[in-house]
This record gives sequence, C-alpha cells and structure tokens, in this order.
Amino acid sequence: MSKRRKKSNNFIITIIVFIFLCVSGYFGTDYFLDTSNNIAKEASANEVQITTSASIENADEVDLNNDKLNIIFFYVGQADCTLIKLNDEVMLIDSGNNSDGKNVVSFLQEKGITQIDYLVGTHADEDHIGGIDDVIKSMEIGTFLIPTVGKNGTDYKNAVEAAEEKNIPIEHPTMGEVFIFEDAHFEIMSAMEEEGTSDNNSSLVIELTYNNTKYLFMGDAETEVENSRSWNKVNVLKVGHHGSNSSSSTKFLEQVKPQYSIIEVGKNNSYNLPSDKAIKRLEESGTQILRTDKANGDEVGSFWLTSDGNTIDIRKVNINLDGNG
Ligand SMILES: [Zn+2]
Repeated sequence: MSKRRKKSNNFIITIIVFIFLCVSGYFGTDYFLDTSNNIAKEASANEVQITTSASIENADEVDLNNDKLNIIFFYVGQADCTLIKLNDEVMLIDSGNNSDGKNVVSFLQEKGITQIDYLVGTHADEDHIGGIDDVIKSMEIGTFLIPTVGKNGTDYKNAVEAAEEKNIPIEHPTMGEVFIFEDAHFEIMSAMEEEGTSDNNSSLVIELTYNNTKYLFMGDAETEVENSRSWNKVNVLKVGHHGSNSSSSTKFLEQVKPQYSIIEVGKNNSYNLPSDKAIKRLEESGTQILRTDKANGDEVGSFWLTSDGNTIDIRKVNINLDGNG
C-alpha cells in the first residue's frame, strides 16, 4: 500500500506553464478577455449522462469487482458513511455512529475489502467518527485523515488511540492538498482550523475528480465554509450537514450546480432534517435529490454509484447499516 501524494505546488508549475503558453499565443486572443472564467470552466466537471434505476433492491447485487469508480452512500441512520472504490484502492469517508461501526466493518468484509487506503474522519462529531475505531481495529489502514478541531472529544480520542495503537499515519490535511487515488485524485477544499471553528465547519471537504466527473463531499460544513472560497461545478454533491438549513446556500449551489444531490439522513430523526428550506434551495438549483431516509419510497436505503469517468449510473440498494435499526 504505497502512499502517493501530489503536493499542491503543482499549481505553481501549472501557472508557469500557463503564462508561457499565453506569451507564446497558444490560447489565442479570446482567452485573454476572460481568463479567470475560462480557468474556472477548465477546472469544472462536464455535464455527463446520468442514469438511475430502481431495479436493484438487493444488497447482494452490489458488485464492487469492476474497473469503474464505485461510490456507496450508506444509510447509517442519522449519520454519514460513504465508501469510494476504484480498482484496488479504497477510501472511506466517515463511518456512522458508534453503534454503526460493526455493521460498516461487516459490509466491507463481505465485499472482500480488508484494506482502506484513505480513511477520512471529516470532523469530530459522533455521527461521523463514532464507528471509526471499529474500522481502524478491523482493517488495514493506509492513512487516517482527520482535522485537529475537536481533539478533546471522546470519539476523537478513541479514533486516534486506535490508529496510534496500530502505528497508522495520522494526517491533518490543509486546504489545497491533493491526493492521488488510483486514476482519480481528490483535493481538500476546506479544512478550517482557526480558533473558534465549530466541529461542523472544521469538516474536511473533499472534491474527487475522475476523468470528466467530479464529486463533492461536504461533511457537515455549513454556510461559513461555503462562503469561504469559490467552488467548481460538480456532477454529484454529498449534501452538507444532512440537509440542514445551515448548509446548501443558494450562492454555493449556483457555483456547484450538482446534477445529483445525495442527503445521508436518518428516518424520522429528532432534528427534523432535512430542512424544508434547504430542500427548496436544492430543488430550485435544478438538482435531483436522493435521500437515504427515503431511498425507496418511504423505505430507507443506500445509493450505489458507478462511473467510467464519462457517464454516471446511480442505483438504489437495500443496504441498511444503522446499528439502531
Ligand atoms: Zn453530522
């Protein structure tokens, strides 16, 4: 399990090459008229064909042994857990509450997954890292990524202790860091750690790029994070903070313009999430909303996405990893 990382100083090389190409007239005159806009377009996802189907109702039919990008947005009750697999490389973003960790491990083992190259705890809250110590104890882990905010919390301590016991490298990535993931790569779009940053806003926000497709995983990041930078257009958005009104602002959605928006949220949760207001803003943005609490009519479930980098296929799957349900 070799660790391959591309530092963000590639950006400086890109700028130097860009200036050289501009000077040499490579882009023609039009490019000079609106360069910032063109750069933004270059970095954004293309509109790709997305197909969805209700045909798969059985978890047994999730077959991860293919050469496509596979993403599973799991139902873990009122919590987050997302698996990403491309060939032999695996990333897990969050792992549900404490009660869900064992279910997450069982699912991975059933699918023959024994190693996770990148394990991401987006932030210190239990509904994201509660189950992560179970994952660390049961799996071979390449690198464990977690912010520094919230380090005195019980779940944070349990997770870090479990990683330290197995000598797993723990990293606190910063905004702009890029990691190679098989033929894809992912960039840390936000990692706030200023004094006073809330757990939610310390979320490691991850943008995954695979050929012509882009995916944005927001953790529980809220409007403060959304307003802190500019965003690329993506094909699929893992909606921030379970569809809370404090995330998914109109200004943010106007930039991200997701074709699909997936909300990982617990059925009849006590927070009344997702909020009607957030749903309205998402609907107004033109995105199609998929909710794990209502994956199949009123039934909970997960979503399985596959992509060859040019098209995306999303299906519902009857997977429930909620330890309380
Ligand atoms: Zn959460």
